[in-house]
Amino acid sequence: MSASSTPRVLDTFLTPRHQALWEDVDAFADEEIRPRVTHMETARYVDRKVARLLAARGWFGVTIPKAYGGMQAGHVAKTILIHRLALVSAAAAAILQASLIPVAALLHFGTERQRADLLPGVADGSVLLSIAVTEPDQGGHIGGMTTAAEWDGKAWILTGTKAHIGNSQIADLHVVVARTAPPGTRTSEALTAFLVSGERRGVSAARYVGAFGLRGFGFGGIGFDRVRLPPENVLGEVGQGLAVAQSSSILYGRPNLTAVSLGLHEAALDLTTQYVDNRPRYQGTLSDVGVVRDRLGAMAARLHTARVLTYHAVDMLDHGTDCDDQLITAKTFGHEAAVDTGRDAMELHGANGLDTSGEVSRVFRDMQTTYAPAGTGEVQRLRLAQTALREHRPRPAPEDEPERIPWSVRFADHLRHVDPDPTAV
Ligand SMILES: Cc1cc2nc3c(=O)[nH]c(=O)nc-3n(C[C@H](O)[C@H](O)[C@H](O)COP(=O)(O)OP(=O)(O)OC[C@H]3O[C@@H](n4cnc5c(N)ncnc54)[C@H](O)[C@@H]3O)c2cc1C
Repeated sequence: MSASSTPRVLDTFLTPRHQALWEDVDAFADEEIRPRVTHMETARYVDRKVARLLAARGWFGVTIPKAYGGMQAGHVAKTILIHRLALVSAAAAAILQASLIPVAALLHFGTERQRADLLPGVADGSVLLSIAVTEPDQGGHIGGMTTAAEWDGKAWILTGTKAHIGNSQIADLHVVVARTAPPGTRTSEALTAFLVSGERRGVSAARYVGAFGLRGFGFGGIGFDRVRLPPENVLGEVGQGLAVAQSSSILYGRPNLTAVSLGLHEAALDLTTQYVDNRPRYQGTLSDVGVVRDRLGAMAARLHTARVLTYHAVDMLDHGTDCDDQLITAKTFGHEAAVDTGRDAMELHGANGLDTSGEVSRVFRDMQTTYAPAGTGEVQRLRLAQTALREHRPRPAPEDEPERIPWSVRFADHLRHVDPDPTAV
């Protein structure tokens, strides 16, 4: 696997503190996560120990302000954590990233009271979060959700089922988006986000069953059967649920999944160079064969491009710059490029790649999981096409149409993080 030094191409984006964090997480992944990978692949339950180890490092608080006990280290730092963990175990990286997404919801929409009550526990890992938006039938169409909360005069009564929720089995607190307005209401006003403890009566997480990829990370269903919620459990305002879901997905979900796919991409190239360099062929090894080198070169070119796109996009977030489209591009391109490299990796391993307990097949399976979450490829390209078309069709300035202002601009003040505290990492 890769040595711990950071690639020179990332020098523009990485401060000495980022580089120290990079080395720290590499050492952690090698010592603490690598020995658990086989167990995570085969276990019939989610090993909470991984979340506990991540919590002990304070990494669930990477973007939480120091005033609430977090690292306040920003989005490049968050990407380093997820990317470098994914190089060793994408499932471990997924455990971290899934609980970091709802941090965005609390930071951007929580009241001061909610932030003060909850963020210190999130930062020290004692409160593990999930964000529950997707439903079995609605998929990426948020407006089609049927989970609903009704006000009975004293409390909200939440009923419905969510699907594919990251850390569903181990999260302590779920940010749940539900319908709170009658049919016919615009989606931008019809949904509301709620804070729902996993311990509340009526909340039930489906049992873990390993998926095609990311084994050891649970992304399952959660049922809500007439769960009673006091008004102070509303996150943001009633009717702001779409904004909570979209902003968390765009500002945290996309870069997090991009970082998972970058770690996998790098793992695929590392495994393949090692393999072809050691596999005897003729008087030398497979790596002497011109056609094999040509494929390795293409894999390396894709990885270089994905790296730069990934870190460039989160560096823009840390600078409080308009970067919604860069986050989308990094996610959609990063996934596609990684999967292309994964296919090359599998083919260059020949029949030996097909061993289901082998590393390259795990990496290839895990790569398939970064397509759907935080916006599928089609949905991302639709957004990019909208921007491209707008550039050719002058329309009123975004101030006249607030929903057109990119999330990275709306929350620029919260997101900006150009001068990390020296003690943060
Ligand atoms: C590893 C993992 C972790 C996840 N974590 C979470 C989580 O923590 N919280 C959560 O709420 N959800 C989570 N999800 C769910 C994820 O958000 C959904 O998978 C995603 O929203 C897409 O929904 P779907 O998979 O049902 O696909 P669908 O929306 O049903 O789409 C199926 C296919 O149709 C295409 N399609 C759909 N609509 C359009 C359209 N309008 N135009 C063109 N093509 C379209 C899609 O691109 C896709 O190819 C996770 C999923 C995975 C795999």
